[in-house]
Amino acid sequence: MKIVTIPPAIADEVAQARRKGAHVGLIPTMGALHDGHLGLIERARKTCDVVICSIFVNPLQFNDPEDLERYPQRPVEDKLLLEDAGCDMLFLPEKNDIFFDFQPYTYDLGGLDRYWEGPSRPGHFQGVVNVVERLFFYTRPDEAFFGEKDRQQLTILQHVARAQHWPEQIISCPTTRETSGLAMSSRNTRLGPDQRKKAAIIYHALRSAASRAFTSPIPEIIASVQAILSQEPEVQLDHFGVADTVSLEPLKDWGERSTAVAFIAAQVGPVRLIDNILLVRG
Ligand code: AMP
Repeated sequence: MKIVTIPPAIADEVAQARRKGAHVGLIPTMGALHDGHLGLIERARKTCDVVICSIFVNPLQFNDPEDLERYPQRPVEDKLLLEDAGCDMLFLPEKNDIFFDFQPYTYDLGGLDRYWEGPSRPGHFQGVVNVVERLFFYTRPDEAFFGEKDRQQLTILQHVARAQHWPEQIISCPTTRETSGLAMSSRNTRLGPDQRKKAAIIYHALRSAASRAFTSPIPEIIASVQAILSQEPEVQLDHFGVADTVSLEPLKDWGERSTAVAFIAAQVGPVRLIDNILLVRG
């Protein structure tokens, strides 16, 4: 695996690969890699000749400086995992390089940041889109792979890519979970073993909501998820709700639609965890 730190150097590498006719895939990450990230690499290898993983802890998307400071970093382990996963290139830029000559741009997010993670993390999605644009600018992938674990981020990136006529295809990849059902996340490493066990209630609540989707009224499902979470005082529910899959607007009733998505966020000890589940009319 090639490790490239300088943005113009990765641009050169990609240009060379392209001249040989390679189809290029990018998986942007913030490191502290786990099986969720590796699932994205595996998916990319199916359709791409050259798979690039970027590791960059993006300061623009953190609104809490402490969260940024405590964000786990494991460069040595990450490199080994990427080698084993068959990743071709690791792009490891420095902050000053990636933001060289950079003017933040305010994107039209189509109102997709109005709910769920948006209000509790002001500026977060603008920060994500700005850095993804920088990564795309240097790597110019044909396809970029993002996890459904962060479905609001994925929906926003798909929207911006369409609206801005970005040539990159945004590919969505399913959520990888621990055996307990807990969605894998780099932040899980900050949980103690007991907290990690208790955090599984988040997915349990989502599954319970999914089992009643399109049959029970939405307010009843919301109340039942709140009741489930209240059984576990160490898991503090931040929000749960059901949304339209396209506009991400909260729903009060099912209407005629055949799909919807349930979003959840909860605080477990020092960490805020998010998850979601797609709801499909049976
Ligand atoms: P992060 O390093 O947390 O910024 O995540 C990098 C990419 O990996 C994003 O597209 C995430 O949605 C995706 N990702 C993170 N956790 C998971 C997971 N458990 N399953 C699938 N994709 C994930």
